[in-house]
Amino acid sequence: MQWETVIGLEVHVQLNTQTKIFSGSSTQVGAEANSQASLIDLGMPGTLPVLNREAVNKAILFGLAINADINRHSAFERKNYFYPDLPKGYQTTQLEHPIVGAGIVEIELADGRKKNVRIHHAHLEEDAGKSLHEDFHGMSGIDLNRAGTPLIEIVSEPDLSTSEEAVAFARKLHSIVTSIGICDGEMSQGSLRFDVNVSVRLKGEEKLGTRTETKNLNSFKFMERAIALEVERQIDVLEDGGTITQETRLFDADTNTARAMRSKEDANDYRYFPCPDLLPVNVSEAEIEALRDALPELPDTRKARFIEQYSLSSYDADMLAGDLNMANYFEAVVTQANDAKLAANWVTGELAARLNASDLNIQNSPVSATDLGQIIVRLKDDTISSKIAKQVLEACWNGEGSPDQVIEAKGLKQMSDSGELEKIVDQLIADNATQAQAYRDADENKRKKMFGFFVGQAMKATQGKANPQQINALLEKKLTQ
Ligand code: ADP
Ligand code: MG
Repeated sequence: MQWETVIGLEVHVQLNTQTKIFSGSSTQVGAEANSQASLIDLGMPGTLPVLNREAVNKAILFGLAINADINRHSAFERKNYFYPDLPKGYQTTQLEHPIVGAGIVEIELADGRKKNVRIHHAHLEEDAGKSLHEDFHGMSGIDLNRAGTPLIEIVSEPDLSTSEEAVAFARKLHSIVTSIGICDGEMSQGSLRFDVNVSVRLKGEEKLGTRTETKNLNSFKFMERAIALEVERQIDVLEDGGTITQETRLFDADTNTARAMRSKEDANDYRYFPCPDLLPVNVSEAEIEALRDALPELPDTRKARFIEQYSLSSYDADMLAGDLNMANYFEAVVTQANDAKLAANWVTGELAARLNASDLNIQNSPVSATDLGQIIVRLKDDTISSKIAKQVLEACWNGEGSPDQVIEAKGLKQMSDSGELEKIVDQLIADNATQAQAYRDADENKRKKMFGFFVGQAMKATQGKANPQQINALLEKKLTQ
């Protein structure tokens, strides 16, 4: 049978405000457990929440970034449920009147195809605390530092049809919220968390199938795996004549399995009611226009600019413009090296590979943009060859100093003294007389293949420091003499 997948995402984005959404407690991560939870965050009797203006502004910035309607009037409600990490017994959130209305996010797929994903709305709410299941034997700990951290929850329409599309959409949201500076984008810290709603239906069927929701995925890789797993499971169930239960599921990345957590609850189950402690939020036209003027460069605009300004390929521009920190790094390398093509090659090639292998992001690159730029400068002025440049990068990566210090200390300067190189070439031809003779006797084709041997010998003799162009020219001349 021919099945078709339907996916909709709910995305929690932690806003990077200094303080919480309704209190003055710090939102800084890494503090001692429960040192940043105030009486307001705990919902103690007699306390009153005060809405953080910055959280509202950041939510509006997001709305503007996706061309959404900004609701002039929004309001908070209480979503009631019991859980140990929610000491108030309710989450303050928005339901009927979210701050951001319908909008559009354009995604681009690997084959260049573009697709618009509709955003149903985005609302403001507070995060809960954290249950710590591993720190205490036989008990769970509760850390309430996160309680009250501002979030926007972005709800997409069920417009995605493959895991590739879902991941492209998730990446695009990551790119947007980091580019406009409302979220630090640290997925491993939970700054962005994805709930994936998945259903399947027979091709041609109009009615949507029953969906499940897999919660709290905090990496693109996990998301892709969780979707694949769930699609397969649903198809199996349906092909065996079963039915899908609408439920919430939990994905376990360690075992690559998922299990049902609870059957899906309705809004009714939460006894939502308007929050009596908070005034409705009214934003004026002038406030919205001021934020629109302050909106930083969006990823799509930056990508177009990179293609235009630096003559990058669409692929390179995607890789470099999608992430703000990556983009800033790249532009700093270009400034230093004055060569966009080489800067793009080194950042997306050698550097990206190293960062990947060490599971580091660009902000934590051991090699600064200035240093990488300087390596490229030395490459361009022929102080070093590109092979040696990789060696210099490695040394800088290991903290052995600036590129010039490394080149000096390790004696990596390229040998361009033609007299000296000529001596070396003469010597190696004498040492390899048989091969040299064979070369002379060979035809054009064979010669091409044999030439590499002599280049290799020359590089070996100079520890890779010979200027490659000079060596090639010398060898060509001397071998045919
Ligand atoms: P609820 O009101 O139960 O929370 P919503 O209509 O708000 O449900 O949808 C929640 C999320 O689930 C949205 O992202 C939406 O796109 C997605 N969704 C809804 N129905 C389906 C479906 N049949 N298949 C896949 N995703 C769906
Ligand atoms: Mg909903």
